[in-house]
Amino acid sequence: MLYRKIKKEELDNFYQAKFSYYRKVGGYCAITICVLEILYFITDCQLYGRFASETLIPRLSVLLPLAIFCVLAPRIKSYKQGVFLYYLIPHAAMWSTIWAIYHLENRDFAREGFIVMHFAFLAIGMAMPLIYHIPFHLLLLFNIYISNCFNHYEHYDMMITLAFPLVLGVFVMLTIIENTYADAYLTKQQLETNSVSDRLTGIYNRFIMNEITGSRSEKFKLRANDLFILMLDIDHFKDVNDNYGHEAGDEILKFVALQIKSQIYKTDYVIRWGGEEFIVLLVDYDDETAFNLAEKLRNDIKTIDNEICPITISIGFSKYNNVDTYKEAIDKSDQALYYAKEHGRDQVIKYEDL
Ligand code: GH3
Ligand code: MG
Ligand code: MG
Repeated sequence: MLYRKIKKEELDNFYQAKFSYYRKVGGYCAITICVLEILYFITDCQLYGRFASETLIPRLSVLLPLAIFCVLAPRIKSYKQGVFLYYLIPHAAMWSTIWAIYHLENRDFAREGFIVMHFAFLAIGMAMPLIYHIPFHLLLLFNIYISNCFNHYEHYDMMITLAFPLVLGVFVMLTIIENTYADAYLTKQQLETNSVSDRLTGIYNRFIMNEITGSRSEKFKLRANDLFILMLDIDHFKDVNDNYGHEAGDEILKFVALQIKSQIYKTDYVIRWGGEEFIVLLVDYDDETAFNLAEKLRNDIKTIDNEICPITISIGFSKYNNVDTYKEAIDKSDQALYYAKEHGRDQVIKYEDL
């Protein structure tokens, strides 16, 4: 309900992005929580009216989980791995407080001490999915409940009753933070999609090459054993514009894009390379299937009624050798296309046959 704009299957990516975005802040918060826990030692000394040697070790004990956190946190990649480690810190601070309180004669201020703990949970919760946060935060109440068995807080009932509005308040704040991040996430995704999409046809534009090739090597970095490159151009497209108008020409472009899109797999790419030229990348086909698909595309576009005028296309076909830069690879298909154009159009030509 709250994230109705984010699809269910997208939620995992969203939480991962949220974790990546807030993890550093969460890390600094974890360190701050432990430092504050140790600073509570000053209040212990005030309560005793002397150096409170009894609570020194309980307060310093928080350094152990902090050390574990500092070693493991930079190694963690996914938010799922991070959950236990990140929530370890406020819980450790909580138990360090409980241990220190055990040694205090005056336990009047335990209530205030625990109130501050909710902020520790709020800080850590920023990096985590709210649904993961809820059980870990509620565990705080359980900690108070358990520790009351031996600490016998003076205002135990008030402590528990006051905790509920605080827990609720933190949930509301985390909901607001998660929703704000969801908006930013969706906007960023939309911008990324727009920057590699062709507005007219909805397929990729040529900037997708920045994403599917390495910036240094300029080779295709698609996970493919076999990659086929089809360079496809509508024959005498200028005549369509001249005879039927530019808008009709646009409809033909959409028709061709749709025909290609409907015949390839999700892992393949169809790119509007410019004007009435398209590039199709067929990922992991065998030679025959790839060539047959090119032939089928040519035949379908010629025979299926597009409601404007009959058209034909020419295709240059090549197999990627895993060595060329993407420009060299595309150039091979382009040479094959040029040959097809020079020798009558409406045909698929293999670069290897030139
Ligand atoms: P060939 O068979 O040699 O490819 O001939 P052609 O007429 O298809 O090629 P040419 O390069 O001479 O013309 C391409 C035309 O495509 C010219 C240009 O006006 C048209 N064009 C490019 N982009 C668009 C577009 O977005 N919409 C429309 N309607 N036409 C476009
Ligand atoms: Mg053309
Ligand atoms: Mg052209």
